[in-house]
Amino acid sequence: MPSADRGAEEPKEAEDTAEPIDLSPLGPGVWVELSVAADVEAVEAVSEILTRHAPGGTSVEPAFGLVDEGLGAGIDTSRPAIVRAYLPGLDPAGVRSAIEEASKALGHLQAFGLRPIGDLAVRLVREADWAEAWKSHFRVLRVGRRLVIRPTWRRHRRQPGDVVLSLDPGMAFGTGLHPTTRLCLAALETLADEGLVSGVRVLDVGCGSGILAIAAGKLGARELLGVDPDPIAVEATAANARLNGLSRRLAVRRGSVPTGEPPCQLVLANLVASLLVQLAPLLAAEMAPGARLLASGIFHDREGEVREAFALAGLAIARRWAEDDWVALEALLVAA
Ligand code: SAH
Repeated sequence: MPSADRGAEEPKEAEDTAEPIDLSPLGPGVWVELSVAADVEAVEAVSEILTRHAPGGTSVEPAFGLVDEGLGAGIDTSRPAIVRAYLPGLDPAGVRSAIEEASKALGHLQAFGLRPIGDLAVRLVREADWAEAWKSHFRVLRVGRRLVIRPTWRRHRRQPGDVVLSLDPGMAFGTGLHPTTRLCLAALETLADEGLVSGVRVLDVGCGSGILAIAAGKLGARELLGVDPDPIAVEATAANARLNGLSRRLAVRRGSVPTGEPPCQLVLANLVASLLVQLAPLLAAEMAPGARLLASGIFHDREGEVREAFALAGLAIARRWAEDDWVALEALLVAA
């Protein structure tokens, strides 16, 4: 058993600098996670210290920043990374001493004046929770006043008027967590409040998980078509349509515009600015006279270009929604 001997010299509470943590649940199948936020230049030294005291595996999670119109993520070296290390939680005395020693060694490193290092954080992780841990990041999410996005494994107590979408975000983009999706959902809810969704035919271009089409379906749209070039998205949309009892109203196909279908009253397109610019005439061609387009995924500095392309395609901007760096536009087809 590791470190059992160190337990003997254990009780020296006075210099216990680590945060107090209840170690009573320790036992077989419980691991202790030590983690520290460290500037990129200090990562190696911090990893080395943590590995020495918690030899059950180390990981480094860099900070990410948005690139490529906010759609991609790149490593951001100006922000601290998180270094994590694990040790088996079999022996409380050994664990306590490992925490203390690691904390002391980190203190020395800080004293060297290396780039910033955060405090040592300690957490217990049960082996059984491992595989499911990522699910804890997805919660029931309310958008606008009525829409509720419920990950399939969570419960939601329905309030009067709630429109609940059950989604499995494990599968494709479109969990409702991204601001561009949220913007589009909020806009859709507003259109529904104005009676512009109920009974209409809707096209969702780039349907991803199908979240927008499903929301439109739940808000009363009569017939829905989702298209996406990504086969995983097509599968996810079909599965989520079934989960929400919309299989009969919501069709999904691999591909994009043009769809070859008769024009519809509402087009949803949560893409990126460059695609919206490129596809503007094709999106307009899917719209019946007076139809509406909800276009989202526009990084704020690209809004001008999208507006220009829309104007050229006969699309007049009716409303604008914004959140953080993102913009969504509602456009009406004016010219024939
Ligand atoms: N509608 C979902 C997903 C948006 S992500 C939501 O709002 O959350 C954008 C989606 O567009 C992706 O699923 C991607 O596969 C799809 N896409 C990429 N290029 C496309 C194109 N040329 N035409 C249609 N969809 C496209």
